[in-house]
Amino acid sequence: MQVEIVVLQHRVASRLTTPWIELDAEHVARELAAGRPIVSFGDIPFDWREFRVLFRLLADVLARYDVLEPPDVAMLKAMGREGRPEAREVEAWYLSPFERSHSAGAASSAGAPDSLATVLSMSARPFLARTVDALHQRVNLAPWTQAFCPFCGGAPEFALLPRTGGRRLVCARCTATWPFPEQTCPYCGNALAGCSTSFVSTDRRYRLTGCDACRKYVKAFDVRNADRPFLYDVDAVASLPLDAAALQRGYLG
Ligand SMILES: [Zn+2]
Ligand SMILES: [Zn+2]
Repeated sequence: MQVEIVVLQHRVASRLTTPWIELDAEHVARELAAGRPIVSFGDIPFDWREFRVLFRLLADVLARYDVLEPPDVAMLKAMGREGRPEAREVEAWYLSPFERSHSAGAASSAGAPDSLATVLSMSARPFLARTVDALHQRVNLAPWTQAFCPFCGGAPEFALLPRTGGRRLVCARCTATWPFPEQTCPYCGNALAGCSTSFVSTDRRYRLTGCDACRKYVKAFDVRNADRPFLYDVDAVASLPLDAAALQRGYLG
């Protein structure tokens, strides 16, 4: 399934042109220091026809592998038939802040159901990633201290443990990475030393760290023990056994 998803995303990515985004270094530094992500919705080169085709194909793949509940499949198929999602629906999803989806008790008010957010996120990834690729090398992330993505505001669903040490969080939407202290929980800011539990996969490629203060966890891809680069949609699924272990121990995804 992961392979089918990645192939569909690559097919779209290969047809995209790279957007040119003007950068005023001082302005960007100010925005980052203030905790404001720097990519606005209008910067992303969406091709809506391509986007909707990808949305339909991805929903089909997820339905075929029983990842989605039947009512969600019906809803997504209906959206496809109606020529949706519309740009404003994607914009509403894009602008839904990380804080809202992660603050206590707010999950149910986050708007889009999880399955819709999942398919939107997968469909938007090639477009977002292209935009962020064009920026990543040109932006100094030093002023950024937040746990959400400095480019698009997405949540940190994964982390990388680079060969050089430390930790980088990975955006679930655009796959940008940014440094974040290894010993701090990105969800509640708790210091993790002596207050967390780690689970490591048998091949040592993945490490999950659960925070004992808020019970949430982050999975990491350990570059030091991997023979290939990180691939978001592949590694998110390949590391699912660790999620099961963490859930059993009372941590929340
Ligand atoms: Zn992002
Ligand atoms: Zn925490």
